[in-house]
Amino acid sequence: MKKKPFFLRGKYDDTMDKDYNIVLVGTGGQGVILASTILGWAALHLNEKTKVRTAETHGMAQRGGTVIVHLRFGPNVESPLVKTHSADVILSFELVEAIRYMNYLKPDGIMLVNNEIIIPPVLFRGQHVSVDPAVCIGCGNCRMNCYINTYYQDMDTLAIVSAPSSRIVNGKCEILPGCTGCVRCVEICNQNAIQLIKEISYPLYSEIEQTIKSASKNSYIIPASTIARELGDIRMTNIVMIGALLGFTNVPLKPELIKEAIHQILRPNVVEQNLKALETGQKLIQK
Ligand code: SF4
Ligand code: SF4
Repeated sequence: MKKKPFFLRGKYDDTMDKDYNIVLVGTGGQGVILASTILGWAALHLNEKTKVRTAETHGMAQRGGTVIVHLRFGPNVESPLVKTHSADVILSFELVEAIRYMNYLKPDGIMLVNNEIIIPPVLFRGQHVSVDPAVCIGCGNCRMNCYINTYYQDMDTLAIVSAPSSRIVNGKCEILPGCTGCVRCVEICNQNAIQLIKEISYPLYSEIEQTIKSASKNSYIIPASTIARELGDIRMTNIVMIGALLGFTNVPLKPELIKEAIHQILRPNVVEQNLKALETGQKLIQK
């Protein structure tokens, strides 16, 4: 399908006189870079004077490693890097990554965090899950929501293009060597067919939450992945997060430009569901 023509710049906000800094963090496969592309597109089209700079790091990104993107926009931006203690926003797609990078946040900056924990592979080496075939009904929910399978699919054919973590054989789920032991599927299986065989220790959710809340009076933890999953595709977590960010009225990004960016950047057949995810995210925060 043909894309809509690009918007002209200079149509939206000519009043922006200060630079704005966003740091996006998460783990590989969560759509952090796509989120920064959408935000950057929207920032670029605010007005003719706005400059946009980004810098990204994605070590081990494809296997749950850290991803960080610096996004700066405004009339005076030159360097793409955000200094520590100067980010207006930290948009974190994962709880522990938020803590890792919270030194970028300026006092009273916005800390918006997805309440998902993705344990780094290096930590959960040795952690295993297994499926009880007597209980498994072969529904495939675990497989569809596994980040290894989800993020290793060809976007057009939906064929798995890299080592999958599980498969359904003869109506039963079978865990494969691609599984990293993240335990997400243990929660997802409503038949309780998946068990954690060997567990590693990790900070308690309450400890992580307390640390994030202490970063700023504007710290919020939201269930973006849960919402995206309920809307039909966990890959829309990034759009739910962007929607929630738009709920802060002091963030100089315009919802209409974000919507246009979604039209311009995403494949036409997923635009409608992503706009719904955006709208749902917007309802999470009203500030
Ligand atoms: S393990 Fe659970 S979620 Fe996975 S296919 Fe079996 S019943 Fe479904
Ligand atoms: S534990 Fe479950 S969700 Fe995690 S990688 Fe393995 S199969 Fe996927």
